[in-house]
This record gives sequence, C-alpha cells and structure tokens, in this order.
Amino acid sequence: MPIDKTHFFCNLPANSEIAEMKNRIIDIRNDFPILKQKVNNKELIYFDNAATTQKPQIVLDTLNEYYTKYNANIHRGVHFLSSFTTEATENARKTIQKFINAKSNKEVIITKGTTDSINLIAFSFGERYVSEGDEIIVSEMEHHSNIVPWQLMCERKKAKIIVLPMNDNGELEIEKLDNLISDKTKLISVAHVSNALGTINPIEEIIQKAHSKDIPVLIDGAQAVQHIKVDVKELDCDFYVFSGHKLYGPTGVGVLYGKEELLNELPPYQGGGEMISKVTFAKTTFNELPFKFEAGTPNYIDTIGLAKAIDYVQDIGLENIYKYETQLLNYATYKLKKIKGLRIIGEANKKSSVISFLIDGIHPTDAGTLLDQLGIAIRTGTHCAEPVMQHFNISGTTRASFAFYNTFEEIDEFVKGLERVHGMLS
Ligand code: PLP
Repeated sequence: MPIDKTHFFCNLPANSEIAEMKNRIIDIRNDFPILKQKVNNKELIYFDNAATTQKPQIVLDTLNEYYTKYNANIHRGVHFLSSFTTEATENARKTIQKFINAKSNKEVIITKGTTDSINLIAFSFGERYVSEGDEIIVSEMEHHSNIVPWQLMCERKKAKIIVLPMNDNGELEIEKLDNLISDKTKLISVAHVSNALGTINPIEEIIQKAHSKDIPVLIDGAQAVQHIKVDVKELDCDFYVFSGHKLYGPTGVGVLYGKEELLNELPPYQGGGEMISKVTFAKTTFNELPFKFEAGTPNYIDTIGLAKAIDYVQDIGLENIYKYETQLLNYATYKLKKIKGLRIIGEANKKSSVISFLIDGIHPTDAGTLLDQLGIAIRTGTHCAEPVMQHFNISGTTRASFAFYNTFEEIDEFVKGLERVHGMLS
C-alpha cells in the first residue's frame, strides 16, 4: 500500500530515503516472527510498544541456544558449561556498559527491570542517606514505579515527596525546580521519557540544576533507551535505570546504572548467595560491585538475551531509529488530528513515538476493544500514571506507541479503524 503523502506535510525525508527506509523495514519486520501473525483473522498491527516490545529472532534463538546447549549456574562452577555461561554473562554486562557508556562494568547492576532497580535505590539510598523530614523530588508525570517505591521509603523514614509539576502540554515546569529544591532535598528522580504522554524531559537541565546543589539524580529510562542514544557519562546522572523487555530483549531482566563511588557507599538491598564475600554467624562481609547488589542466582540467560537485543538495536542505529520513529509520530499525529472530536493528551515540543488521545463520547476501553477486533493492539487506561490522568481530569486515555518495525501503512489502517470506531460509537 503506498504512503499517503498527499495530506502529509510534516518533515518527511526525501523520496529516495523513504524508499531505502521501506526496504530496510521489510527486512526488519522479517526479523520479528510475531509480526507475521494474524489476530482476530486480521494482520496484526502492534502499537503497544511502550508496554513491551516484540523480540527479534536473534534474541529468541539466543535464549533457546543457551537453554539447549549451555545452561549451568554461573560464577560458582569449575566445569565447562558454568565457565562458558559465566563468561557470556559478564560479556553481556560489558555490552550493556558500552551501550550506555558507563565508566566501568562495576557500575552495571543486573536487576529484574526498571521497577526493581528503582526499589533497590529507594531502599538502599533511603537507608544510607534519608532521615526524618528529608525530601525526595519526583515529577507529576512519573510512572507509579517511580512514585510508590519513594512513598514506601518516605513512610519508613518519615520523609516527604515533593512534586515537580507539569503544564497542560505535558511539559515539566522546570523553572519551578529551583524553588522546590531545599536543604532537605536528598534526591531527584524523574523519567527521561513519559510513558503516558511521550514527553522527552530536559534531564540534562534537571541534572545540572540538582548537581549545582550537590543533589544526586536518578533517571527512569524505561521509555528512553529504545528510542534515544543515552550516554550516562555525558549526562552525568547518578543513577539510570531501564528494562530489557522494552528494549526488544527478554522480560524479567533490567539494569541499574549507578556511579561507582555512590554504589560503594550504599548498603545491599537483598541478602543471599553471590552478594557476599564471607559469611559467619557472627558477621557477613559483602562482595564487591556489581555483585553486592545481585543476591541469588542472577537471570543470566535473559541478561545474555538482552545483550543480543542491544547488538540488534545498535546494528540498526539509535539515530536512525529516532529519525524514523519521529516520522511515524509526526505522520500519526497529523492524521489523528483530522478525526473529529479527537484530542491528543500531551503535546510537548519534544516527544518520543507515543500518542495518548481521547475521542469525544468514546470510552478508551470501547475503542481498544473494537480496534482489537481489527487486529490492532493499542493500550487503554491510566498507563500506571494516575497522577497524569488527575492532572488532565480524565480517567484514562487510548495510547498508540510505535517502534522501528511499524510502518506508515499500519498508521493508515489504524486511522481507518478509528474512523470506523467513531462511526459506530459516537
Ligand atoms: N517507568 C516507566 C516510565 C515505564 O514506562 C515503565 C513501564 O511501563 C516502568 C517504569 C516500569 O517498568 P517495568 O514494569 O519494566 O519494571
């Protein structure tokens, strides 16, 4: 199906570039077996990438290969399988280190995902640095995973959460940050990219303002690393967290990056095997970084799978991905705005490929259910960001989120689907 360019005046690349991109997309889509499936007897259109991304064949093959041929618990064995898989896991850590440009592989802690990483820091940082009356700043557009762990810690420590507000475009009111920072502020924790609105936050500016007052910053990169090149050294953030499954990797594995000197100061989060140096009933001493924070058998095969996903993404190139996804975003935004009664929630200047919207008189759940009948997977509801919904005084949105394997033609089908929904329900 040809791209509808007649109504399309957003910043598209030249025709030759589109042709090249289209050829590449055909190859890329062939790497993702799930995209060849039919759902409800229709070609699957998967626009729920902010919730989780699909996995390329190379990741699926890697998981299968390791379970089939190399599985053995790591770090403890002297035998071939254990040594082989230990080396592969530690190489995967180095791949992750290079991907975010961390100074050392000691700064890369393997966790279960973003939520687990934030809980780790909320606990350990809270234990070490937070006392009664202290404050943690989060923003109004955070995912619950970057609110609730801090609330739990604040309850334990009798500390307080302070909220950096956003405006009605879904942009942080960064000019208010200086006034919110006080001598009680212990840490600022904000999303790089909002999952509910798509806003790309000015984290460089936030980090710089915080550091001018010696306050460390945690960046929730769950919605960023798959779209934007992240360099933790350049950003100078103190902690950066993300999930493997949103980066075309397996579920149940994620990353906590932390500056070595900070991680060294923090107490362990969980106790168990691997994180110890010596155990007696009188006293336990702890392992060095990164193992101090990796209690128990780590999720080593998924870590190796995540490194494969990173290789895959880097092979396409994050700059190419960002450029292409921006075209998808602009195209979809332009086309959606033509639908009568459709309101986009979150119109920040800088956005990733996420569009949240409402259509007058149509409940998001009804829109989602009918689109599903057409084989189109989108997400509806609060997107685990209830304060965002409270800001806009709405109960939820319909959200389409695009990945580099999505196409302009799929957006056309999605818009046609929405028009059908509109015709049926409004
Ligand atoms: N933070 C943001 C911005 C997210 O979008 C998500 C998931 O949607 C999370 C945190 C939680 O990620 P996970 O469920 O992989 O731990």
